Amino acid sequence: MKLKIGLDFDNTLICYGSLFHDCAVGGNLLRAPLPAKDRDSVREHIRAAVDGENKWQQIQAWVYGDEIDKAEMCAGVGEFLLLCRQKKIPVVIISHKTRFAAKKREQGGSDADLHQAAMRWMKNHYFFGEQGLGVAEKHVFFEATRQQKADRIAEQGCTHFIDDLPEMFVESTFPGGIIKMLYSATLRRAEGVDHHFCSWTDISRFFRDLIGGAARSAERLHVDDYC
Ligand SMILES: [Mg+2]
Repeated sequence: MKLKIGLDFDNTLICYGSLFHDCAVGGNLLRAPLPAKDRDSVREHIRAAVDGENKWQQIQAWVYGDEIDKAEMCAGVGEFLLLCRQKKIPVVIISHKTRFAAKKREQGGSDADLHQAAMRWMKNHYFFGEQGLGVAEKHVFFEATRQQKADRIAEQGCTHFIDDLPEMFVESTFPGGIIKMLYSATLRRAEGVDHHFCSWTDISRFFRDLIGGAARSAERLHVDDYC
């Protein structure tokens, strides 16, 4: 079986952890720390506040721009990419990311080039180069809309796509015939997804089984939820 794996970037390869929360507190957009510091909790809280959408866009501009270097690689991503490198499975990164944030510096946001920031983060985490994790810079694509991202996935001929957003898989132009793999530790069941994973360790195991032709148990064969 000839494989080509497409990967989302934000919250799939790069994990922002409490960075949204820390930026919100640091930028005085949150008066007091929240009990849950993850992105979704911060977004929900900020958006419910006065001028919430505006504030949320400011935080996004900071996190995806100047502050991105504080974000970490999601646990298990390095091992997964090395597995692909070792087994010569082509990998492409296809991200829905505009070049500049909606909120510019004069609006309290940032003028940082978000594509450059993401590429810098990947370089710093050894994605590229001879001794790196085997990703080619030319195989990283940033698309301005979700639809263009779906088009790129089709154009690249991916056999599998891994994303943290189930909405991506139900995008009207998402190509048929691609195995849809949701990576999310927080979501439970999601519609239109072929497999649901909570960890990259399980994703690596899935592909190791696939390429190894390992006989999976009959029970396993019918399970699409690996969490
Ligand atoms: Mg994402």
